[in-house]
Amino acid sequence: MSSIPVERFAKSLNTINLYDLSLPELTALLADWGQPAFRARQVWEWLYRHFAAGAAEMTSLPAALRERLAAETTLSIGDVVVRQDSRDGRTTKVLFRLPDGQFIETVLMGYEKRRTLCISTQAGCAMGCVFCATGQMGFMRHLSVAEIVGQVTYFARELAARGEHVTNIVMMGMGEPLHNYDNTLAAVDRLTDATGLNLGARKITISTVGLVPAIRRYADEQRQTPLAISLHAADDEERGRLLPVNRRWPIAELMDACRYYVEKTGRRLTFEWALIAGENDTEEQAHKLGQLLRGMLAHVNLIPLNPTAGYGGAPSSPERVARFQKALEEYGIGSTVRVRRGIDIQAGCGQLRDRHVSGQ
Ligand code: SAH
Ligand code: SF4
Repeated sequence: MSSIPVERFAKSLNTINLYDLSLPELTALLADWGQPAFRARQVWEWLYRHFAAGAAEMTSLPAALRERLAAETTLSIGDVVVRQDSRDGRTTKVLFRLPDGQFIETVLMGYEKRRTLCISTQAGCAMGCVFCATGQMGFMRHLSVAEIVGQVTYFARELAARGEHVTNIVMMGMGEPLHNYDNTLAAVDRLTDATGLNLGARKITISTVGLVPAIRRYADEQRQTPLAISLHAADDEERGRLLPVNRRWPIAELMDACRYYVEKTGRRLTFEWALIAGENDTEEQAHKLGQLLRGMLAHVNLIPLNPTAGYGGAPSSPERVARFQKALEEYGIGSTVRVRRGIDIQAGCGQLRDRHVSGQ
């Protein structure tokens, strides 16, 4: 990686990012500057309705205020250093370089009607799942609220220009959302705010590796935002090999927390399962999973492994996937096979950054 001159980012490191502020905070900032409250509302609309790229675009504001905003605040989370569109044109991935030189990835996936964004919540990840490119790079830091929200507004702006909008968000990019609990949930609140982007809470999925205390806290908050649990194995030995976090919170504790969540919220849980040939795609694992989830309000997403540089495993064949799915049916458990989108543009979590940084 080439080193990044610190001066280049000095301004943005010390500058307020407007996407870090709630409406009351923005109102307080502008009040400090001697501005009436309605100005804050106007700025808010430029941020969340028009997705302005900079203060200069906020043409309904007096020139002096625009200039001060331009000098003392920013709307950008960093530079887009790589942008890739998949061959079929339906998947776009960007790599942002944040003001302190960290990298994060965001992916836009276009379906028939949906425009789904896969966003990051941390630079790197501390959880060390062996098959995950982000886990392989280690933990750098949590993302701020602005850095989470800014990934969405970046694409919202682009979509708005062609008369489209973000319809769904999955927190399945880099990082463990519940490790960065406060900023992640503050970002969810911001994205669902009726005076702002006004996304439906049910359209945002939080995916977690299984941080048990955080799942319980999340259940207690009774939020509408769906939760997905990355299970990937149905016994402690196998799961501990793939997901080190399992040694801290083994499957029995995780399933207790999951049942607690379903009881508290009445909401269905999704379980994620990356199918790895000869590893966790055996009939034995399928039956163990069936027993774990039997009778629970649950759905399983089966995703053939996306190979990564630091892990030797291979994706399961379509036959193995079908057999696994059939075994789950015996327990009355529904599952969906998901194809990882944009494999040709390294759209698996953490892979674009890997390529960029190592210059491969
Ligand atoms: N940290 C959270 C969310 C980010 S990872 C979590 O682990 O749930 C999003 C999903 O991608 C998780 O289910 C994760 O296990 C899965 N994943 C990571 N690397 C993968 C790979 N190489 N192939 C398939 N799925 C992968
Ligand atoms: Fe972190 Fe999720 Fe990757 Fe595990 S799969 S290392 S929790 S980002």
